[in-house]
Amino acid sequence: MAQKIIVTGGAGYIGTHTTVELQKAGFDVVVFDNFINSDPSSLDGVQRITGTKPELERVDCADDVAIADAFAKHSDAVGVIHFAALKAVGESVEKPLMYYQNNIRGLMNVLDNMNKHGIANIVFSSSATVYGVPDVLPVTEETPLKPATSPYGQTKVMGENIISDAVRANPNMRATLLRYFNPVGAHPSAEIGELPLGTPNNLLPYLTQTAAGIREVLSVFGDDYDTPDGFCVRDYIDINDLASAHVAALKHMLGGANGVNIFNLGTGRGVSVMELIKTFQDATGVKLNYKIAARRPGDVPAIWADATLANKVLGWRANVPLADTLRNAWKWQVKVCEKNN
Ligand code: NAD
Ligand code: UDP
Repeated sequence: MAQKIIVTGGAGYIGTHTTVELQKAGFDVVVFDNFINSDPSSLDGVQRITGTKPELERVDCADDVAIADAFAKHSDAVGVIHFAALKAVGESVEKPLMYYQNNIRGLMNVLDNMNKHGIANIVFSSSATVYGVPDVLPVTEETPLKPATSPYGQTKVMGENIISDAVRANPNMRATLLRYFNPVGAHPSAEIGELPLGTPNNLLPYLTQTAAGIREVLSVFGDDYDTPDGFCVRDYIDINDLASAHVAALKHMLGGANGVNIFNLGTGRGVSVMELIKTFQDATGVKLNYKIAARRPGDVPAIWADATLANKVLGWRANVPLADTLRNAWKWQVKVCEKNN
């Protein structure tokens, strides 16, 4: 019998791609999602890729009663991948309590129910945001964490600490904390991808929407940073590579790895905003309307990952070339536009 994995937030951007990889690896996936930032139709996209629609529980992880019922139904699961969270940094500053309620209470409920049913393994979506503005680049898992600069970032730091304490108190439990750098792209089939609601905050969806004519112009935030070309530098990781790391992390725990393991998930390469724009134009042949604008307050000038630990321990590495990732993102954007017309 296939091993069952609960994927909270499984209808979202990273959740759908990870569900595909889990199903391909032979796991039985049940998605827990309340669709606060996604649509149930994303799971149809998963089915068109793998031939299998994941089982779905429409449930809010922060609803104590509903989540307990969902876990009781799936107490035979061997692990949980916990994606469910709100993720807009600016919104979290305006509505901090909503973020703590959703992200922290949701996580606590998940951990409580895992303990109750003896589900031992959790993978948690953390973020490079926990490193703040790092003193040394690239950042390893040993790089000191900086105080969070937003309630969203705080929920990631707190989430890591809560899970670590829970594992310390229960030797049967194991956790993997995955610190994502900048996830971008879509499945090569263009059946699933990123679907931001409203105006995107992140670079790539803003860029592809501008290329598609939905937005007039992409503002490049700052050209006077102390970086090789003056533009901000990030580590853009292909969403399919990121998804496969979750399967590797899960197998590592199911294979007996104990305690709390922490991994950076990035390519190990820093790319500037202008480099990304140029690569997009070259890869797709589409000309992008962009302008240089003021720095965005709070932006980290440069950050990229040292991802050698994930390679050494999980046997995972990012493989997809950036040009392919950007072509996939564009293919997805074109398909979304066709659907909406
Ligand atoms: P997303 O918004 O596309 O997916 C999150 C999913 O969780 C959505 O389907 C949403 O409906 C669901 N959800 C939210 N709160 C819920 C709740 N209380 N109960 C049930 N379902 C709930 O976001 P994503 O980009 O796929 O991010 C997944 C995780 O990765 C999040 O924890 C996010 O903070 C983290 N992360 C994302 C990025 C990124 O750039 N995308 C970077 C670092 C970390
Ligand atoms: N960025 C930009 N214009 C935009 C959105 C983002 O120039 O419309 C830049 C931003 O300054 C940062 C990079 O793109 O250097 C990635 O930003 P994003 O919000 O996608 O991710 P972050 O790393 O800030 O979480």
